[in-house]
Amino acid sequence: MPEGAGLSWSNVCKVYEGAQGATQALDGFTLDVGPGESVAVLGPSGCGKSTALRIASGLTAPTSGSVAVDGRPIASPRRATALILQDFGLLPWKTVAQNAGLGLQIRHASASVRRERVAQALATVGLADFADAYPSELSGGMRQRLAMARALTCDTDVLLMDEPLSALDAFLREEMQSMLKDTWEREGYSQVIVTHSVEEAVFLGQRVVVVSPRPGRIVYALENPEMTDAAWRDSDLFFERCRTLRAVLHGRGSHA
Ligand code: ADP
Repeated sequence: MPEGAGLSWSNVCKVYEGAQGATQALDGFTLDVGPGESVAVLGPSGCGKSTALRIASGLTAPTSGSVAVDGRPIASPRRATALILQDFGLLPWKTVAQNAGLGLQIRHASASVRRERVAQALATVGLADFADAYPSELSGGMRQRLAMARALTCDTDVLLMDEPLSALDAFLREEMQSMLKDTWEREGYSQVIVTHSVEEAVFLGQRVVVVSPRPGRIVYALENPEMTDAAWRDSDLFFERCRTLRAVLHGRGSHA
């Protein structure tokens, strides 16, 4: 797994032209994610968070402004950037191993490289025994692990996640948050996680940024370096950070 790459959005604006007229999703969205850093993005529904991720992954072009990885502008999808969506993007007619190897298949990796990397990634996320199962036979948490395995096979140095845990129940969600944090700490990629959950953001982000209602731009940033501490979720500081962010989201905090 390579070192994490730096990712930056510079003054990104996005206007969608539709039958109902134009919708401005983002306006002056600027954010720097350092190599290996974990940033959580919080904001109301429809504020442009998914748009910001799609632009960073190269799937959508900004109307103005730019996105760069390690200083190089992004104009099309980049091999080492992985985007995990809420529905995980699994193909139901393919096995766990085939789903995990999809990214490599698209990159025309040889069958032997694919077998080796898939086996390694499935072992990393604890799915080695399910290689021949189908997605319909997996629990929600296991599907999340499979989406993660797919990202891990592809030398990912930037991992973008769009509300990856929102379909899971509360208990499983905490377990998966720990899995995401452990994997990030072990693998060293940079990550951006978009979420609606204040607790999830404070658990997973070394920095938590808050996006304004549409058109989205960052209106608040909270440094949260203690998130790697043991028992972080039960600490007083964790609850204090959650309170601070709730106040900001409900318009009671001072905006940066
Ligand atoms: P979020 O992820 O914060 O919920 P999105 O980025 O999905 O926000 O959407 C921001 C705004 O842009 C919304 O008003 C949405 O309806 C609009 N939008 C998103 N994608 C498209 C699209 N492909 N065409 C037209 N409008 C879109």
